[in-house]
Amino acid sequence: MLVDNHGREINYMRLAVTDRCNLRCFYCMPAEGIDYAPRKELLSFEEIIRICKAFASQGISKIRITGGEPFLRKDMMQLLERIAEVDGIEEINITTNGTLLEGRVKDLKAIGIKSVNLSLDSLDRERFHEITRRDELDKVLQCMDDMLAEGIQVKVNMVVMKGKNDADIIPMLELANDKAVSVRFIEEMPFNGTEGQGNEGFWSFQEILNKIKKHYPELTKIPDPVGSTSMNYRIPGFVGGFGIIAAYSRTFCGSCNRIRLTPQGLIKTCLYDNGIFNIRDLLRSGATDEGLIQALKTALAHRFKDGHEAEKHRQSLLPNFESMASIGG
Ligand code: SAM
Ligand code: SF4
Repeated sequence: MLVDNHGREINYMRLAVTDRCNLRCFYCMPAEGIDYAPRKELLSFEEIIRICKAFASQGISKIRITGGEPFLRKDMMQLLERIAEVDGIEEINITTNGTLLEGRVKDLKAIGIKSVNLSLDSLDRERFHEITRRDELDKVLQCMDDMLAEGIQVKVNMVVMKGKNDADIIPMLELANDKAVSVRFIEEMPFNGTEGQGNEGFWSFQEILNKIKKHYPELTKIPDPVGSTSMNYRIPGFVGGFGIIAAYSRTFCGSCNRIRLTPQGLIKTCLYDNGIFNIRDLLRSGATDEGLIQALKTALAHRFKDGHEAEKHRQSLLPNFESMASIGG
């Protein structure tokens, strides 16, 4: 079992398989995109599988595939199949923008994917286009319906931005009226890949909740699963539910059970840190599995208490232009 210096058990790895993306969500990257890492710097599938095996032997049992857009990575389905075969991996989930999954949802089901987080920030076609800088709303909605038809659990991720899509909160929430989805409203974080990395549209979880309460005062709080980052609620009569993720306020660090692996092999023990060590470099310099595990244990033995502490340290090290596509969300 992996335990950090604050007694938190770590069993979950977020694996960003690429920093490339076919959308340009403005809270994540600029219109011209980001400087993508050269291909040889990305972890190969062999390297990813080796890391998964080594960490699964220590108690990592849950993996979330993210990116960039994971389905831009060639042979992604084969990678999923191979991860699913790793001893100790009990659950694989995916975060995707849903635009590249036409005709592939049945395969996801066959591989054993139970839950997918689908990013969708507006049901209004023009606003969707404005936010993502691409006209792909129909594909995302089709993907959601295909997944529900296959019995894959769907969580819809909406980044809430004041003055941009706060008018979409209620229509998005009402997706859960007749669909078995959980709509999750996420505070905007400062990782948009531009100088300053602003999150000017930041709206706190409390403001989001107040807005929803005004429309649905009868909402009720439901218990949050262990390690969950969302505060979860139900509205009587709705088929699905909703959650709010205080990603910038960082209310959930005390029970954080996750590490992150970036496309270039950085291990992050917090979304807000600089990257603690590069496991790709260790692998490519001939480290044994035991060496990889030891490096992870050392990182966990010095883990920041929370995202505020990690952010303070990060800013003191480098002025950053990080995009969420290179972190994985
Ligand atoms: N491309 C996939 C997608 O959009 O679902 C996976 C990668 S994306 C970086 C992962 C998640 O991070 C998405 O749900 C996205 O909405 C969220 N995200 C990206 N930038 C963000 C930001 N600045 N603040 C909050 N969430 C952000
Ligand atoms: Fe691409 Fe996801 Fe970033 Fe949007 S949030 S630009 S879909 S990586």
